[in-house]
Amino acid sequence: MSGVIRTVGGDLPADLAGPVYVHEHLIIDSPLVAETMPHIHLPSVDEAVAEVRPCVAAGVRTMVDAMPAAAGRDPERLTRVSVLTGMRIVAATGLHTGRYYTDVPWARDEGEEGLAERFIADIDDGIDLHDYRGPVVERSGARAGIVKVASLGEALSASEERLFAAAALTASATGAPILTHTEEGLGGMTQIDRLTSLGVDPGRIALSHTDKIADRGYHADMLSTGVYLCYDQGLREPDATFALLEAMLEAGNVERLLLGTDGARRSLWATLGGSPGLASLYGDFARRLGSDVAKTVFETNPARYLTLRR
Ligand SMILES: [Zn+2]
Repeated sequence: MSGVIRTVGGDLPADLAGPVYVHEHLIIDSPLVAETMPHIHLPSVDEAVAEVRPCVAAGVRTMVDAMPAAAGRDPERLTRVSVLTGMRIVAATGLHTGRYYTDVPWARDEGEEGLAERFIADIDDGIDLHDYRGPVVERSGARAGIVKVASLGEALSASEERLFAAAALTASATGAPILTHTEEGLGGMTQIDRLTSLGVDPGRIALSHTDKIADRGYHADMLSTGVYLCYDQGLREPDATFALLEAMLEAGNVERLLLGTDGARRSLWATLGGSPGLASLYGDFARRLGSDVAKTVFETNPARYLTLRR
């Protein structure tokens, strides 16, 4: 496969990505998160390194850190985790849901072109060292490799419409893929309709958290459009997520399924005394899938999806 995946440590030939976790959280640290969301506050490089090392030992080689702009990401700390563990890390730009931005006026007020300008610069030039929270912008050496968007319901709010439009502009300018947050798994078809009507190729879109909804018809509908689904509840509900994965594989979607842990909860990290630990997803699911399917879902699909397409 030709093409590259953009990691915080530089561009990586896509065929060297190895097994990939597509929706991870290694560093989350903003004043708002520290104060109001302590259960997802993940500020420590040392703790992330301790949690990621067993993932490397299990065979995972690349992770997508799904924290977008001004919601608690840190390009320097992600780079240090990558250097200290050998895990390749793809960082995100874009925006999360509005609840992360009550103290970030630009994230609420800026128009789609201003947002796209910030997102494109994160991908082309380097993520701001101050995560677009300071009075000045200073580009780090770590560039983002994916655009994150989020919506809260079955219909998009005006603010979400603006974000989705900015993401489409960014994808078109940079060739980066788009990763969406669905709230409780809902609204997937709305997200797909909006992005594709803005000209985004469905093969550049992956939806997160949809495995919170068991309805097989909903998943078949989303997959029939050509998007990827990233099932990421496998640490919380392993049997339900695995059963859904198996059903969608049997229905012929092996090329469009991705996996991750959405491991933002401190209670999921083995090294923080939680359970079952980020490494267990690959250990458990790769064994249950068998080597051929595991290679497709953990390696071939993410490599194709994450490749920049100018
Ligand atoms: Zn997440």
